[in-house]
Amino acid sequence: MEERRIRKNPAEFSVQPNMTDYEVTYGSFSWESVAEKFEGLPSGGLNIAHEAIDRHANGPLADKLALIWLGEKGEKRTFTFKEMKQESAKFANVLKTLGFEKGERVYTLSTRLPELYIGAMGILKNGSVMCPLFSQFGPEPILQRMQRGDARGLLTTQRLYEKKIAPQMEALPDLRYVLLIDAQEDVNEKVLSLPRLMEKASDQFEIVHTDPEDMSLLHFTSGTTGMPKGVIHVHKAMYTHWSTGVYVLDLHPEDIYWCTADPGWVTGTSYGIIAPWLHGVTNVVDEAEFDAERWYGILEEYRVSVWYTAPTAIRRLMRLDIDPLERYDLSHLRLVQSVGEPLNPEAVIWGVEKLKMPIHDNWWQTETGGIMIANYLCQDVKPGSMGRPLPGITAAIVRQNEDGTVTEITEPGKDGDLALKPGWPSMFRGYLHNEEKYRKSFADGWYISGDLAYKDEEGYFWFVGRADDIIKTSGHMVGPFEVESALMEHPAVAEVGVIGKPDPLIGQIVKAFVSLKSGVEPSDKLKRELIGFGRKKLGAAVAPKEIEFQENLPKTRSGKIMRRLLKARELGLPEGDTSTLEK
Ligand code: ATP
Ligand code: MG
Repeated sequence: MEERRIRKNPAEFSVQPNMTDYEVTYGSFSWESVAEKFEGLPSGGLNIAHEAIDRHANGPLADKLALIWLGEKGEKRTFTFKEMKQESAKFANVLKTLGFEKGERVYTLSTRLPELYIGAMGILKNGSVMCPLFSQFGPEPILQRMQRGDARGLLTTQRLYEKKIAPQMEALPDLRYVLLIDAQEDVNEKVLSLPRLMEKASDQFEIVHTDPEDMSLLHFTSGTTGMPKGVIHVHKAMYTHWSTGVYVLDLHPEDIYWCTADPGWVTGTSYGIIAPWLHGVTNVVDEAEFDAERWYGILEEYRVSVWYTAPTAIRRLMRLDIDPLERYDLSHLRLVQSVGEPLNPEAVIWGVEKLKMPIHDNWWQTETGGIMIANYLCQDVKPGSMGRPLPGITAAIVRQNEDGTVTEITEPGKDGDLALKPGWPSMFRGYLHNEEKYRKSFADGWYISGDLAYKDEEGYFWFVGRADDIIKTSGHMVGPFEVESALMEHPAVAEVGVIGKPDPLIGQIVKAFVSLKSGVEPSDKLKRELIGFGRKKLGAAVAPKEIEFQENLPKTRSGKIMRRLLKARELGLPEGDTSTLEK
């Protein structure tokens, strides 16, 4: 273990200009060689649940822990791969007995309970499609997503059913069954007790034949830029989950892995369920929401070695005055990864100072299904950069021309659309019921991500902003991330969201919404100081001209700053879809 520890010397942020460094470390890469890592179904097909669970349950890892579940109130339940195989087989039998068929959508709406994970595997075993909802959604966004995704089944809890589903059952005529995780009795002929059904179900199940291109998951996006989109994924997506499990998460059999994302978002399924289990790794799941002491406690007690989290959580840890290594034994932790939003350089440095390792940023989207660009392990971390494209991934900075063609921008440092060459296994296969939008995401043989970025001389990608969020001020194009990161370096600042505010003279002025670290009082003096600080760092053209303090910035439930909402509120415009807004 010790010699494989990926801990970089904090002083060393130098980079070897070597694009194929992963090959030096891991050997050559091809998707064909990744395909060989999978066993396949006895019937010849490919199914995520078989590769993630049953394969291990039938081999030497049978009695190894697959899941360590920590309940909100301090409960703990564990499952070995063998037990997970049996439980998910029972769940698949329940679905089969109730007549659920291949390709039908079964939704989940639950806090992070073991049954959610058992259900995920059971749904896939039955050849059905898992569609996860976030448990804190209100009734309206739930209804909308269930109607749009043709929900036939729902796995949920009694409380969530009563509060959010029961009042709108009539609006869901095609929903055949609701399975209640914690009800001992059936409610009616449609709303059934899962424990009762599981008790009678056999723990043997022959996985329904699914092909690599069969639909496995339907995932709704985070709704940061507008109405969430239903994104279609297939079983073969796990090739990406497997390879990123090697190159980015560095998973080894002895690892204890914890991904803090909820399966209501794609990180919580791709990397909170599938990737660790494909590698036969023990997966920690915490039911509770963020709490710094609890989180450090889990890292310590369960000897977590690989930790996958998000900038919002890291910024919350930074905000507090806790020196983790003084109070907790985190000696098992060897790798911290982050996704979901740009990770400010300040956060990477915080990791170096407080955890004695940099935090590794990586970039992907619901649409890409898995990590595409990362500060992967055999290269140096550049604080503020998303890293480099992974093996098997072709990413570029491009410009879309008016005639529909696309030109690759090769000049280092020049902004453009971040685009990917289609063909990676976890690429989305469609936006549900929106063929046109899907088609429009591609141009001249490229997938256009909707994010803007640039590339440096060493092939590292740097996030500039969402195409929608770019600010045009006095003839300059300003990416909010650059401004946010500069302000984050000020010791009083905890979080920043930057927008362009229309201005008759210069197009837009850069305005920053700032939330302060605990204990810091807002004042006009501090405002002036921050404006001066910004000017010094960024120059007058790019620095914010206006600053407004806010105790908390509006965020999606997955923790992303909603700049479009800051802007709508600033301009007194309608807020648009706020179904994913954190309340
Ligand atoms: P919607 O598409 O509904 O507006 P969303 O784009 O936030 O929501 P996701 O698919 O969950 O939905 O998020 C992907 C987006 O998150 C990326 O397109 C990018 O803008 C942002 N993102 C993710 N990781 C990073 C990162 N490491 N650095 C910068 N941005 C990131
Ligand atoms: Mg998006």
